[in-house]
Amino acid sequence: MLLKLRLSLSAEQGRQSAKVCQLCPPDAARIGAIGRADVVTIFGGNKLDGARRRMFAGKGCMFKLLINGEMVPGDFEMPVINPATGKVIASCPRGSRRQLDQAVAAAKAAFPAWSATPITQRREAILKIADAVEANADELARLLTSEQGKPLAEASFEISAMIGFTRHLASLDLSPRQLEDDSRRVEIRRRPLGVVGVIVPWNFPLLVTSFKFPPALLAGNTVVLKPAPTTPLVTLRLAELIAGILPPGVFNVITDANDLGDALTDHLDVQKISFTGSTETGRKVMTSAASTLKRLTLELGGNDAAIVLDDADPKAIAPNIFGGAFLNNGQVCIAIKRLYVHESIYDQMCQALVELANNAIVDDGSKQGTTIGPLQNKQQFEKVKTFLDDAHRNGNVVAGGKVIDRPGYFIQPTIVRDIEDGSMLVDEEQFGPVLPVIKYSDIETVIDRANASKYGLGASVWSSDVQRAHDVAGRIEAGTVWINKHLDFAPHIPFAGAKNSGIGVEFAQEGLNEFTQVQVINA
Ligand code: NAD
Repeated sequence: MLLKLRLSLSAEQGRQSAKVCQLCPPDAARIGAIGRADVVTIFGGNKLDGARRRMFAGKGCMFKLLINGEMVPGDFEMPVINPATGKVIASCPRGSRRQLDQAVAAAKAAFPAWSATPITQRREAILKIADAVEANADELARLLTSEQGKPLAEASFEISAMIGFTRHLASLDLSPRQLEDDSRRVEIRRRPLGVVGVIVPWNFPLLVTSFKFPPALLAGNTVVLKPAPTTPLVTLRLAELIAGILPPGVFNVITDANDLGDALTDHLDVQKISFTGSTETGRKVMTSAASTLKRLTLELGGNDAAIVLDDADPKAIAPNIFGGAFLNNGQVCIAIKRLYVHESIYDQMCQALVELANNAIVDDGSKQGTTIGPLQNKQQFEKVKTFLDDAHRNGNVVAGGKVIDRPGYFIQPTIVRDIEDGSMLVDEEQFGPVLPVIKYSDIETVIDRANASKYGLGASVWSSDVQRAHDVAGRIEAGTVWINKHLDFAPHIPFAGAKNSGIGVEFAQEGLNEFTQVQVINA
């Protein structure tokens, strides 16, 4: 499957764009960084030989939390599973409430010096992080595939995209703005907020992190980052790289088993939460943050509609639509999650998608040629199975439709036709490889149907007449509406969810501003 994400970067960052890292076999040192290898098959299939297995046997948890500049063991440990095998690949530190408080205290103590550091020096430090990630890109990509499940090429792309986002967001500026300078001198400044809590999901653990920590740090804040419990390893490896670059306490990483989020969001010494995850959890974050009136950025769930107009060419657009729906196994907030197709081209569109689904290579992401990996975790696997049941009950399953009988969390890429609004698969966010294709006859009603959702993250309109598509796009209630594409985002283009898909903006100057407080100096 072709990656359809396009990274539009400035010329300086352009060389990072769409660079896919060279994949090479893991060497001993890097396997060492993966952790307890005695019980595992690492990188989904590359079994460790006996000697290496002995080398790492009994060494316990080799990953560490980052608190106050030190890599420290967790008060607890937890296993991390390779979703392609269902087996434990590493033991991971799990932080306690005590350690969370230590991390917040370290970030609070580091704030005065970091916020007083000139922005040029803060920028330089963030750029060094991008360099360190680039120097370790191959290792990070393999680690990402082993815990997240995505094909290695997609993991490499995620690392490249992360580098691109980090460099671009570090290049932004926060110079004071002069409002008046005649009889009054009015200047608008943007001051940092303090300690920022960053909470991220498991679908793009590094990329989503790079949407948040560069602007937070550039603005002069300090950070406590919490990855999702099922994808902590790659973030802990990032922490190790960052530890040698930033002053102690400026950037801290704590892991949990879904039990420390609340402690971070209602913490007295945290001034802002930047959260990406489900709408359900976003609601909890907002409630919890209310008592301390924290600033919030919430990037939440989506149920993106794509509308194919009657003048589109189904065969020509099918690969891009398929990529927009099945990238990362459909586990993308802005994936196409319901596809509305005009009745005059409905059968052809369904047929073209069926061929693509049948040709997808679903396997362990570490195997060359795999285009779709497993679902990321058991809970999501079980959830997507309920959407499969709904597809069989309420639609006509024309490709896939089954769980694959093997270890790990595999589901066939599934195309469902003759299904209607009102079914669970159309109305709710499946976040998996099951795409409903819905027939429509009238453009006015299909716009209403696309808008009849509590979500409003992304959408797309497909047509051979761009002006006609523009007219439809302007009537869709979503933060981003693409024309003849989907999933095209970049660090200089603001990204925001409408309705229950979020609050606030990420990327670009608008996103950076969210990590600041406006201050007016009026003389
Ligand atoms: P999730 O909401 O279950 O978890 C996200 C993060 O929140 C994890 O780190 C989790 O440990 C943490 N968390 C859990 N309970 C918490 C609490 N009470 N307080 C604070 N934090 C808590 O989401 P997920 O299943 O990891 O990710 C999938 C969801 O994320 C989908 O709905 C997807 O659409 C959404 N998502 C949105 C965007 C976006 O930019 N809008 C991007 C990626 C994913």
